[in-house]
Amino acid sequence: MRKKINILALSPEQFAVLLSGLGHPAYRAGQILVWLYQKGARSFAEMTNLPKSLRQQLSEFAEIGFLETVKRQVSRDGTEKYLFALADGQMVETVGLPYNIGYSACISTQVGCKMGCIFCASGLPGFGRNLSAAEILAQVLQIKEELSAQGKELKSLVLMGTGEPLDNFAAMVPFLEAVRDPQRLGMSLRHVTLSTAGLVPKIRELAALKLPLTLAVSLHASNNTLRDKIMPINKKYQMEELLAACDEYSKLTGRRITYEYTLIEGLNDGIKEARELALLLKKRACHLNLIPFNAVPELGLSPSPQPVMQAFVAALRSSGLKVTVRRRLGADIAAACGQLSNKMSGDC
Ligand code: SF4
Repeated sequence: MRKKINILALSPEQFAVLLSGLGHPAYRAGQILVWLYQKGARSFAEMTNLPKSLRQQLSEFAEIGFLETVKRQVSRDGTEKYLFALADGQMVETVGLPYNIGYSACISTQVGCKMGCIFCASGLPGFGRNLSAAEILAQVLQIKEELSAQGKELKSLVLMGTGEPLDNFAAMVPFLEAVRDPQRLGMSLRHVTLSTAGLVPKIRELAALKLPLTLAVSLHASNNTLRDKIMPINKKYQMEELLAACDEYSKLTGRRITYEYTLIEGLNDGIKEARELALLLKKRACHLNLIPFNAVPELGLSPSPQPVMQAFVAALRSSGLKVTVRRRLGADIAAACGQLSNKMSGDC
């Protein structure tokens, strides 16, 4: 049997080609996009302003690739975590995070992850596969719909769920196009943050696209020896090379980089590391986001005690660096940074 075309993430131009192949005028594409992105249609039968013959043809040749919600958990702090099943039976997790200005959706880009960062549960089950642009977009549409049914609004996206987004670059580009296309999600890329472990050539490729999205770079160490231990990718792309690529990203896009630093007890949380970090970052167009480590029993690491964290923050601030400490959200349902592992319980 012929595989059906998943119409989620098709661009208006691709829709027009599909429709012309079925013998229908291009303007029908606009009608279908309204049904999909504004009216939340889940079937072609609902698209009642389309001719019956077209609805019949679409049902034969195409599908609307929504994901099956296997489980939904809600944290005490309002964080919502979804376990979605993909068409091939693989699973992904998506998280809705409550902020004062509205919700942010934390989206997965791969099943599992290859990067092996030692503080993160996402790679523990191994790498499954890349998600398609349509599967990434489906997570956004479904979480948006769930929130809207509760009277809540989706305001921003963070590509910080399971997977390394830049290791799935081919899906990222059409996904981001769908996000900013006014006929589809119509969300400004200024409200999108893409997190990376530091795939230097792909950071440069992304920079060349000059998109206004925020790049969040997982640093988690203040020197190469330490980063080699925490993030294996550092053995391939050392920190000097990574920071130079980030500088280029800032220059080409006009956007400040957000550096992420998870504080792990006894590993990277000393005053020496704080001073090294300040030296590395204080002359750069950037922002430093410190993340209290979220426990994952299998990883054998502990969060830095509060006084250690406070001393680390004070040392950085005294150097003039702009530092924030990330709020811990969803830890009671294993939805916080580094805890996603499809156990129904990644984060870059
Ligand atoms: S932190 Fe990001 S890149 Fe590293 S293992 Fe987790 S999901 Fe993968």
